[in-house]
Amino acid sequence: MYEIGVIRRFSAAHRLRNYNGKCENLHGHNYKVEVAVQGNTLVNGMLIDFVVLKQKIDTIINALDHSYLNETEPFTKIEPSAENIAEYFYKALSAQMPGTVFLSSVTVWESDDNWAIYRADK
Ligand SMILES: [Zn+2]
Repeated sequence: MYEIGVIRRFSAAHRLRNYNGKCENLHGHNYKVEVAVQGNTLVNGMLIDFVVLKQKIDTIINALDHSYLNETEPFTKIEPSAENIAEYFYKALSAQMPGTVFLSSVTVWESDDNWAIYRADK
């Protein structure tokens, strides 16, 4: 099985609504999003073209970049935590994968030290 990944980045503000501590205050992150995909079938030597994968991620990022996440769908109703952001990317991307490509995980870094990962149930 082959696995490849790409990393994209965006900046956004957020605050956690139901939290007692610094993260309840408005603040921002330079988010890093890593998307990994798997599959057994190569087309022209590629599992999926890196360019195509980046374009799919960037379509999602364009709606979030330099936004206040708490006022941006779907985070108007759910907490804009790294975990929920990772799940949002995962579900939005998995619906767009070609039939031979399986989305294995989405990892979202809020900082160099903190990350959350969402992956398919085994
Ligand atoms: Zn934060």
